[in-house]
Formats: sequence, C-alpha cells, structure tokens
Amino acid sequence: MRERRRLRVRGTVQGVGYRPFVYRTAVDLGLGGRVWNDSEGVVVDATGPADRLDDLARRLVDDAPPLASVAAVEVTALPPDGDGGGRFSIVESRADAAPAAAVSVDAATCAACLAELHDPADRRHRYPFVNCTNCGPRYTIIRSIPYDRAATTMAAFVMCAACRAEYEDPGDRRFHAEPNACPACGPHLRLLDPGGALVAERDDALERAAGDLVAGRIVGVKGLGGYHLAVDAADVEAVAELRRRKARDDKPFAVMVPDLAAAADLCDLSHDAVAALTSPRRPIVLARRRPGAPVAPGVAPGLPELGVMLPYTPLHDLLMARVARSLVMTSGNLSDEPIAHEDGDAVARLGPMTDALLTSDRPIHIRCDDSVVRDVPSVGVQMVRRSRGFAPEPIALPVPAARQLLAVGAELKSTVAVAKGSSVVASHHIGDLEHLPAYRSFLQAVDHLCHLAGVTPEVVVHDLHPEYLSTKFALELDLPLVGVQHHHAHIASCLVDNGRDEEVLGVAFDGTGLGCDGSLWGGEFLVAGLRSWRRVGHLRPVPLPGGPMAIREPWRMGLVWAEAALGGEGAERYGASADDRWPAVLALAGRPETVRTTSAGRLFDAVAALLGIRGKVSYEAQAAIELEAVAAAVAVEDAPDYPLAPAGAPTSGEGPVVLDPAPLVARVVAERGRGTPVAEVAAGFHAALGRAVAETAAALAGDAGLSTVALSGGVFQNARLTGVVAAHLAGSGLEVLVHRRIPPNDGGISLGQAAVAAATAG
Ligand SMILES: [Zn+2]
Ligand SMILES: [Zn+2]
Ligand SMILES: [Zn+2]
Repeated sequence: MRERRRLRVRGTVQGVGYRPFVYRTAVDLGLGGRVWNDSEGVVVDATGPADRLDDLARRLVDDAPPLASVAAVEVTALPPDGDGGGRFSIVESRADAAPAAAVSVDAATCAACLAELHDPADRRHRYPFVNCTNCGPRYTIIRSIPYDRAATTMAAFVMCAACRAEYEDPGDRRFHAEPNACPACGPHLRLLDPGGALVAERDDALERAAGDLVAGRIVGVKGLGGYHLAVDAADVEAVAELRRRKARDDKPFAVMVPDLAAAADLCDLSHDAVAALTSPRRPIVLARRRPGAPVAPGVAPGLPELGVMLPYTPLHDLLMARVARSLVMTSGNLSDEPIAHEDGDAVARLGPMTDALLTSDRPIHIRCDDSVVRDVPSVGVQMVRRSRGFAPEPIALPVPAARQLLAVGAELKSTVAVAKGSSVVASHHIGDLEHLPAYRSFLQAVDHLCHLAGVTPEVVVHDLHPEYLSTKFALELDLPLVGVQHHHAHIASCLVDNGRDEEVLGVAFDGTGLGCDGSLWGGEFLVAGLRSWRRVGHLRPVPLPGGPMAIREPWRMGLVWAEAALGGEGAERYGASADDRWPAVLALAGRPETVRTTSAGRLFDAVAALLGIRGKVSYEAQAAIELEAVAAAVAVEDAPDYPLAPAGAPTSGEGPVVLDPAPLVARVVAERGRGTPVAEVAAGFHAALGRAVAETAAALAGDAGLSTVALSGGVFQNARLTGVVAAHLAGSGLEVLVHRRIPPNDGGISLGQAAVAAATAG
C-alpha cells in the first residue's frame, strides 16, 4: 500500500547540504517524490510504503548532515498522485525563500574532506582548499545574497569539468557546494616575504612556511576570517619576539594544537570542553592549564588557563601535521587593531611583524575573529567572544519584533544585531570602536548584516551613552530611536540566552555603563524584564578619579577604596607605596565634579591593586582576571571566611539598597598587612563578595515576589564569582540564569538591545 506524505523540516536546514541528503535518503529507501527549500525550511513530498515513509521521517532527524540542526519534522498525509511521485528529485527553491536562512556559518573541515586531503590517490590530495556542503567557508566569503558562487569571493574561480559535475549531481556531497574547488581550478597558496614579494607557491609555500615555524620564525597565516600570527608555542624566545613585534605586553595568546591528544597535554578538558573543541564551530576553548604544560611562559603570562583550538581549515590541518607541534595562533594585528583580512593590508600591517606570510588568492570578504568559549566548572561551556562559527546564526527572540530592528551595541567588544520576526542575527566580533579601523569595520558590518538578513531597519536601538560612537551613529540615522540602558540590555541578553520572557532579579556587574543619574553604573541589582526595569540596589558609589586613567591604572581605584574603607590615613599609607601621584589623585577623587561609579569591575581592580597583584594594566580587565587567577590556588571550599553584610532590607518608598564592600576591603588590607598569603586573601574576597551579592539578590527577589535571578555583565566571566553566587542563590531555592550562548560581556549588548526593542517598540 503506497502512501503520499508531506514532511516539513524546520531548523537550520539550508546551505548545509540538507536537500542532497534528503535525496540520497529517499533514493536509498526507494521512495518517489521531490524536495525543495522554501521560506520556512525544507519541504519533502514523498510517496512509498508506509514503513519506508516512517523510516524517512526518522532519518531526516537522526542522520541529518553535520551542519544541520533539525528543530522539527511535521508530517501530513497528502492525496496520492497518479505516478507514485515519479523518480525522486530536487526541485529549484521557491523564489520566496527567506534570504536569512541561506547564510550559514563557517565550518571546520569535515571527516570526508579530511580523508580526501590525506589520500594520495584523491584528486584533492594535499589541496588546502578542499570543502563540501558539510564544511568550509560561508559567512566570510559571501558578498551578497542569494547565496551562490557568483555572490562569493570564489566568483573569479571557474569550476573545472570534474568540479562542475560534482556541483550539479544531486547525489554528490558537493551538490551546490558554492566554494567547491580543486587543484585544477581553485585557489592556491603563496608564500610572501615581509615586503610582499612572492617566495614560493603551492606545496612548496606550505613546506617553507612550516620550515620557518620549526626554526622559530614568525609566520602570518591566512585563515578563514583573517590572518593569524603563528609561532612555535614552546619556543620561549620566539614567543617573546612575537610579543615585542605585536606590541602586546601580557594579553594571552591562543594556541592551535595538532590534535585532541595534544590539547589534553596542555589543559584539563571536561567532557563539555572536548565537545566544544571538536565541534565544527571550532572555537578557542579556555581551560585550566596542566602543570608542566609544554608551552612557553610568555604564551599566557600569570594565568592558570590556556586558550586552545584545533585546526579548522585544510590548510591548518596540513600545516599542523607538518610542524607536529603546538603553535601560537594569535590575531594578525598590532595590539587593539582589527584583525587583518585583506591581502594588501596584511602585507602592509603584518609584514613588519613577520618573517613570512603564508597567503592565498581566495579573498576574505568579512573579517571574523576566532570565537572564544570558557569551560566554567559550575556552568559548562560559556561564550566569551561570539564570532567565527557562530555568526551569523540566528537566535530566537523571546518576543517577536513587529518592526525590523537594527541594534548597534555598546563601545567595547562591539557587535551589531538585526532582527525581524522571531529571530535576531548578531554580527561577528567587531572590536573596540574607539579605534578608527574598528569603527570602519562597524559601518561595514551594519550594511552587510542588514543585506544578508534581508532587514531594512525601521527602528534603531542604541545605548544611552552619548559618547559611544555606536550611539552617535544611531542618532545620525533618520529613523525612530529606542535607547536602552546598558545594564538593562545586559539582563535582557541573559533572558534571550535562556529563551525567557519574564521579570527577574537581574544582577548586572561589569566595567562601566552609563546610568540614568549621570554616574557610571556597573554593580547593579535590577528588577527587570524585556519591557521594563527598575534599579533596586547597587554597590556603594565611589569616585573614578581620572576617568579612563582610573581604568588603565587600577592603583587609583585601590586608593579610592582604601580611603572609603579606612579613611585618609589608610589612603595615605596605601598611596605612598603605590604611586607618587597619589595626593593629586586623592584630591581629584574629592572634587564634586569627579564622576562616581558603582562598578564591580573597578572594585576587583581595586582589590587586585591593594593586594599588590597589579597597579597598571596592559589590556582590559587584566587586574580582575589576575585576581581570579591568584585565587585559583585555593579551592573554593577552603576560602577563608571574611564577613560582609548584604545590603540592608529594602523599604518601600525608599531608593535602591546599597551593598557596601568597604568592610571587606578593610579586611583585605589588614590581611595583607599581616602577611596572609595573597592567594588566600583573594579567595576570601571572592567568597565574601559572592555570598553578600547572592544574599542581597535573594532578599531583593523576595521583596519583588520573584523566584529567578539572572547574572550578566563582564564580571560574570569570573568563573569563581559566578560559581559562588549561583551556588548560594540555588541554596536559597532560587532559579539562576547564566550566560551560555551569548557573551555576558558587552559583546552581548546588541542582542539584549534588540530583544528589549522587540518587546517594547510595537
Ligand atoms: Zn567537507
Ligand atoms: Zn576543479
Ligand atoms: Zn557592560
């Protein structure tokens, strides 16, 4: 008995080889019918025996291609047609297919392509640009939509007959693989000297670059979303030389390892960390460094974690196999600039930093840094930087957007996002907008993302800070505006991450964001949902003497907190040992016009400075990161018990409650004076602050009748603090929302802004 059924497949099923997969499966099952893409995903019209059709529905989920993610298969019965569906076929996509659905993320080389890469009999043996519908470049090569070869940076390469035949064969793994290429028709490697002159091509280029790396030289390597600077990770002098040339003092370098075993030699890897490392998204995974890990100390100075990643392009795979060692693979840029991705620019900017450049003639259209995730013991894998492999994958909005939105994000770790209907698409990591090249990249990202996602903004959403370049950009557009307070956007981003639309007690701890009273907030307790928020508590405000200077020089915050905790005498004692400009800074702090801040990030800076860990930083949040790193020597349960009272009970009609860490700061100073090991004091600080924050949040949640607490803001990248706060809250019977898919830092702000505007802007 033959039946005819329609199977609607929802999820990420376009641009990932799903139709050829359906074709092969249907042919394998002896079914008739056809498959096509439409605006909602993939539709299958199949005819055959009932049990075979049941099999098809099951296999559409169970055997889906690696880059597909099937959300649902809905089956409906259809009246049989005369010919039993005919021979199974792939039919052209309907013209109304949604453009956003067609742009998928860049994906690491699949197992089938790797097998060809290493098979001497294969025509793509050792070809560094092998790819198929299951893997390879996507977002980084797409210039426009609809997504076909002419719209990519592969347009200039005309497929040879063999590649063309694969491309046109519905049964082939390369059916409609737009970047399909082979040694006869595709791009090739080139090795350039630092001045940009051609030194070698093809395999010879690879061999020489590998030889340079083995000899301890620095090589620029063109990857998927930009250039890396590569050097032998175990070579102490070479790593030091890279730091010198890159003008990067202490910020940690990521390491590419040849294989999983090498990663396990460097780091303790949880099950989740291994899953993240080996996924086709291939982020950098921050994980605890093993004692005696064979890397130069200069790779991640003073930090207990290393960032590791596996090869994700065929070129990486060939290179790593040839050098057989771990390589530093850090963004190809001078400190703070965007990563180089255009070849001419790479020669100009990276030439002086490198001994050679391993490049190719396949252009990169969109620069896209490596994504970074962190393995957080109590939480699992948490996003730190959402970029290559994740952008521009849509995320579901808790409340659909009635109008098309552009959200321009904040200033540091900039991303932008566009939304229409029930999904929001965030850009790759753009960087810190205060740098002009990053601002240019921001402008390009806005245009490109709107185009790819088919969004014509009707509303633009921005931060309240008038000096952010993103805000200035928004204000110049002739569009209705929605301003979203920075910390409300943080909490909203956590709600998006967890797919929630409800009111929660939000704890937003970060560096700084502009508050509604003209001061800089950053230690905030909010009763917040997507539609509204109110500030119900905060850390004690203190002066921020010197504005940006106080961020670059944590000793200034140490001075301010020493005075808050111990008075003028305490400040003098600390100041005299910290920096001889202390009297001027203290006077500045005392002036009424000096801006005040409730920033939790600055409190961590202050404690790091008071403990003598760091008085000046060379990268953002360095002091706070090192404070957490120092505490790591003491297990969470062994931390000393320092008292810190939570904020007083809220009284209706009064303003927000204030959590005052001054007694804890006083204890920190006293313990240091008494010679207590710094690790112990740092651990005690985390434990006491975390407990007081949790108790304050629990009391405020109870007062507002809420049972859920959301933790957001860059300070919650601190795994130790997050663990302590979450454990205490859970112990009080509260549900805790943390970040997983969206960064808790300002990289998530654009998504939070979009969610707020979707819920409020009609
Ligand atoms: Zn492949
Ligand atoms: Zn070819
Ligand atoms: Zn922030």
